[in-house]
This record gives sequence, structure tokens and C-alpha cells, in this order.
Amino acid sequence: MNPERYAQIKKRFVDFADEHIAPRSADRDRTGSFDHKLWQRLSDSGFWRLGVPRDLGGDGGGIWDQVAAFEGLARGANDCGFVLSAAAHAGLMQLLLRHGTVEQQKRLLPGLMSGQVGATASTEASGGSHVAGIKTSAVRDPDGAFLLSGEKSHITNAPVADVVMIVGRVPAAGPKDITLFLVEKGQGGLTFGEHEDLLGLRTSPLGPIALDNVRVTEERLVGGVGEGLDKLYWCLTFDRLIYGIVVASHVERLLHLAADRSLRRQAFGAPLAAHQYIQDKLVRMKLTIEASRALAHVALKALDSGAPSASSLASCVKLLSAEGIVDASMELVQIFGHIGTEKSYGIERHLRDAVAFKIAGGTNEMQKKNIFKHVMREFQGELPEEV
Ligand SMILES: Cc1cc2nc3c(=O)[nH]c(=O)nc-3n(C[C@H](O)[C@H](O)[C@H](O)COP(=O)(O)OP(=O)(O)OC[C@H]3O[C@@H](n4cnc5c(N)ncnc54)[C@H](O)[C@@H]3O)c2cc1C
Repeated sequence: MNPERYAQIKKRFVDFADEHIAPRSADRDRTGSFDHKLWQRLSDSGFWRLGVPRDLGGDGGGIWDQVAAFEGLARGANDCGFVLSAAAHAGLMQLLLRHGTVEQQKRLLPGLMSGQVGATASTEASGGSHVAGIKTSAVRDPDGAFLLSGEKSHITNAPVADVVMIVGRVPAAGPKDITLFLVEKGQGGLTFGEHEDLLGLRTSPLGPIALDNVRVTEERLVGGVGEGLDKLYWCLTFDRLIYGIVVASHVERLLHLAADRSLRRQAFGAPLAAHQYIQDKLVRMKLTIEASRALAHVALKALDSGAPSASSLASCVKLLSAEGIVDASMELVQIFGHIGTEKSYGIERHLRDAVAFKIAGGTNEMQKKNIFKHVMREFQGELPEEV
């Protein structure tokens, strides 16, 4: 990582998000809407070309450029829903860059860099935590292509998606059968559901996907048959450290609001900031910011170099930052007192948005499970997979 380049890219997208994304974020939250024009503007800004090699139409930088751009985007946007939609899209792009074939990259990345929307779909109505328990499955047709059927649930970007990576299985392959399928809008048998009405992150379109014998040829698999789980976990690791980056930047924004209010509001003849119980809240916000960012960078370094610790480190970031953003937004409401609960003031939105950070990208309990599994590996050997 080149710190100067990182800072430059971050600043570029703080300014972009501040100018274009923040101004109407509260309106979009109220109406629960995703802004296509804004998405196109983000694409036109070159956001998606960062981290993509030049021969594929990108700017030629690495994964750190993309992460720097996210740090800036989340700092300026004042809109965690929009930023997490971008994170879901980035997950698909990074998966293609790391694990896709050259043919897949050449076919899909130009569209994904210039306004199309991507998604990754694992969760089903029967449960999201037990990834290996998914039911969506494929059989071969006489031509050797796969016919994929099943239902995905609660998928970021699904209502507006152009390209989706579907996590499915090929039962005929035997016990190791989890496989990643690329599907595209307009394919027969593929239906995207409506934008769901959510508590928070309402600017991110979330919905179901139905697959009824969708035909997927072998060259549309990411990895081979049965090679999906490792690649999915790579994608989840990237996703989880991005959550850490988003939290660090967004909570920085919350800390500014909290500090400003604490200095202006008087209680017992002094600014709120003079009271130690209030100071403690600001200090905890600062800890979330610094710890989330630093740990996300450590996890990214591990992921980028292929170190086995990346998965556990990314779970540590995800867990710490999700707890941190819920705590920070709750304390922000507390510092603002009755105004904090008033819808028109815009403070309560941060708390509604924060709740899903403990669920999306793998719940906090699943992060603990993953961290514990790695601790056991390190010190005592393995526990049975399904404990
Ligand atoms: C905003 C948002 C965006 C999302 N985007 C996507 C997306 O793009 N793609 C996608 O595939 N999914 C997405 N999801 C779904 C998300 O991944 C799942 O909600 C999550 O994995 C949990 O699955 P579940 O909701 O089915 O809960 P369940 O798996 O039913 O779990 C319910 C509760 O039980 C706990 N639990 C389960 N098993 C255990 C255990 N062994 N030990 C202890 N506790 C346990 C869980 O932690 C959870 O608290 C999104 C969710 C949200 C909220």
C-alpha cells in the first residue's frame, strides 16, 4: 500500500460522496429508494475502474485502491445503504478479478464498471448462517449445461441486478458440491423480486431471487463444480473487511455530530462535553474508528498476500465494527436526547441503519464461530465442522 496514493483516492471519493450522495440521503431513506442516477454517477466517476488491470479496462491499481475509495465513499456519503450496495457490487467484481476466467472478466467487467449492478446470492429463506446447507441446486441437461433451480432471499441489489453470482450445489458431484454460478438479467427462468421494506439501510435495494431451471453453461461457473465454498469464503472475507472500513468512516461522521452537539448543548451549567459519562461515549466512538480501520487494513494485507489468517482477521473486523457502529449510533441518539428519537432530525436513521451490520455479511454469532474455529486450529486441532 502506498499511503500517499491511498490518501489521494480516499479524498477524491470523500469529496464525490459529500457533493453527490449525502445531499438527498435522508429523502431516499424516507421513501426507501435506490437512486439509479446516483449509481450511474458513481460508475462515471471511475470508482469501479480502481483496482482493475488496464488490459481489462481499469486504472491498473490493486485491491488497496478499491478499499481506499470505499473509505472515502463511506466518509462522505451519509448513506450506509448506498455504500453497502456498492460493497455487494465490489464483492462480485473482486471475485471475478481473483477467481474468474479471463473470458468471464472480459465479458462481465466492462458492464460492471460502467453502470450495471452486481450481487452475490447465498442466503435462502430456510437460513443464511449455515451456508453449506443451501438447497438451490443444478442438474445437467443433455448438452452438459446446468439447469439451476431454487430461491434466494434477502439479497442486496437483487431488485436492480444485472449480474448475480448464485451459490448453489450440484448433488451429482458428491459431498463436495457447492458451486458458484453466474447468471444475468434476462435469462429464462430467472426472476428478481421487489425491493423489500426494511428497518434500516433503506436506500439499498434488497429482495428475493427465484430460479426455475435457469440454464448455465460450464464456462459460467466461477471455479469448477464443487469448488465454490473456498471462493465464496474469499469473497466473504473481502466483504467483511469492507464493513470494517465503512464503519470506521461512517462512525467518524457520527463522532463529529456527537462532538459538535456535546460542545453546544448545556446541562447543569456546562457543555455536555464537560461531563465524564458523555466523554466516555465519544472515546468509545473513537476506539471503534481506529480499531476498525487498523484491523481492516491488517486483514486486507493478509487477504492480498494469501495468508490463511485473513478469514479469521476479517471476522474480527466484522464483529468489532458491527458492535461498534451499533454502540456509536445508540450513544449518538442518547447524546441528542429527545431530538435523537425525532424522525425529522435524522439522528435515529443511523441507529436503524446500524442494526443490520450485525446480520448482513454473516451474523456476529457466525463471526465468533469462525474466530473460535481458527483459535482451535491454532492451539488444539480441529473441532467437528458442524458443532
Ligand atoms: C442488510 C442485509 C443485506 C444482506 N445481503 C445479502 C446478500 O447480498 N447476499 C446474501 O446471500 N445474503 C444477504 N443477507 C442475508 C444475510 O447474509 C443473512 O441474514 C445472515 O447470514 C443470517 O441468516 P438468517 O437471516 O437466515 O438467520 P439464521 O441463519 O436463521 O439465524 C438466526 C439467528 O440465529 C443465530 N444462529 C444461527 N446459527 C447459530 C449457531 N450455530 N450458533 C449461534 N447462533 C446461531 C444467527 O446468528 C442469527 O442471529 C443480507 C442481510 C441483511 C440484513
